[in-house]
Amino acid sequence: MPATHTRSHAIAGMITRLNDPHYARWAAQIHRTGGCRQPIHLRGRVDHIDRTTGEILHRYSTRHEPDGVLRVPCKTRRASRCPACAETYRADTYQLIRAGLAGGKGVPASVTAHPCLFVTLTAPSFGTVHARREKDGKPLPCHARRDAPTCPHGQVMSCTARHSADDPRLGEPLCPDCYDYAGSVLFNALAPQLWRYFTDALRRRIAKLAGLTLRELRGQLTLSFAKVAEYQRRGVVHFHAVIRLDGPDGPASPPPAWASADALADAVRHAASTVSVTVPDITDEPARVLRWGEQLDIRPITMGGELTDQAVAGYIAKYATKAAECVGTLDRRLSPLDDLGRVVKVAGPGAT
Ligand SMILES: [Zn+2]
Ligand SMILES: [Zn+2]
Ligand SMILES: [Zn+2]
Repeated sequence: MPATHTRSHAIAGMITRLNDPHYARWAAQIHRTGGCRQPIHLRGRVDHIDRTTGEILHRYSTRHEPDGVLRVPCKTRRASRCPACAETYRADTYQLIRAGLAGGKGVPASVTAHPCLFVTLTAPSFGTVHARREKDGKPLPCHARRDAPTCPHGQVMSCTARHSADDPRLGEPLCPDCYDYAGSVLFNALAPQLWRYFTDALRRRIAKLAGLTLRELRGQLTLSFAKVAEYQRRGVVHFHAVIRLDGPDGPASPPPAWASADALADAVRHAASTVSVTVPDITDEPARVLRWGEQLDIRPITMGGELTDQAVAGYIAKYATKAAECVGTLDRRLSPLDDLGRVVKVAGPGAT
């Protein structure tokens, strides 16, 4: 439909709505959804019945609502789909993580004394990509190499551009033919499994350091995790996690004295470097062993220190509302292949 038609159609719709005798009720419904972009329309009825007498105490039907529907918020966590609901989700996540670090919402304040780390697990390299590098706030050349090799496809593996933050080339490979796209897709798909192996390995390592069996460890200590995935420009995930040591009864009980932040950091380093997921070979793809990337960041979370509970809660909550769409890809499943061209044109890199 041409844009002018769409506009006049929308204006006509607004006029009809404003003149509708049910306008006030409709506006109240919209207000209660908190500005949700895609409210869910419910149809049906609810009868509240007194079980002992069988008497109907209250009856509600959406039949009497404007358009015969009750509008409720979609409650998505994805900011790209509904900014209003995602903001509610972000604020809730912030309070939840904050309480886990500083106490509150049923978590005792003594939890601040428990060893707690902010850990970033990265993906390995799948090939060189254009990157924005900075030093003292100034952009540096992307991949400047005087003796840069030429790849088998004739591409010199060097880039002297100082990319701006919105350069569409960021995250794109220097040579698309060399880049291991299949590897990066498999990594994203299997990262949750790698994370699970990592947490198992972490428990085993801590038990070993303390000279305990896994069962004995459970009697002394619990590991608590909160993690989010962040999509990088190259389209692979990073995991940011808060890892905390609690006593056997969770955050209300102190961990044993031997379970220090340093011991936890050592165990994290060991577990991250040892776990792997093996992908068997399939048709054109070789077998692969997927591991975490070499970059591993471990920082202690302290009240009023360099990395505070507020900063971490803010970070986790922010990434909880974002997914792959923030690097220019799609945020939903594609079903009919016919839609591919249309969606890629709308959402693909370089979209205007
Ligand atoms: Zn919504
Ligand atoms: Zn570059
Ligand atoms: Zn190449």
